Amino acid sequence: MLQLPHQPLQVAAIPPQRTPAREDQAGPWHSEAVCRRDEAGLFFAPSKEPTAARLSREESAKRVCARCPVMIECREHALVQPEPYGVWGGLTAAERRVALARRRRREAELKASGATGHIAAAG
Ligand code: SF4
Repeated sequence: MLQLPHQPLQVAAIPPQRTPAREDQAGPWHSEAVCRRDEAGLFFAPSKEPTAARLSREESAKRVCARCPVMIECREHALVQPEPYGVWGGLTAAERRVALARRRRREAELKASGATGHIAAAG
């Protein structure tokens, strides 16, 4: 079991319809996720979380993601939805916004150049 960096963690900022349990989400990859519903405090920010605590929590969540066999699928899910909160597929919400902006820029450049195809890479 992963050692949580800050206990007890409040999970008040977790949107009720979005939990990191992944088992309640569509997609066959959820059954292989290594994160579980009771780890929500690790993947989602508690209210008024200090910056140092957030960075530490996010790094811990990313370590869980790094050993997850469905990290790519999870990341793509979070980018496509898009998931506005929490760590998904090893990326924070801010990192996903950057990845999405980069992806959209590349798609716009491809469209402008006349190339076709879908850009699957998040980075
Ligand atoms: S990549 Fe991370 S957030 Fe996604 S299912 Fe795996 S452990 Fe959970």
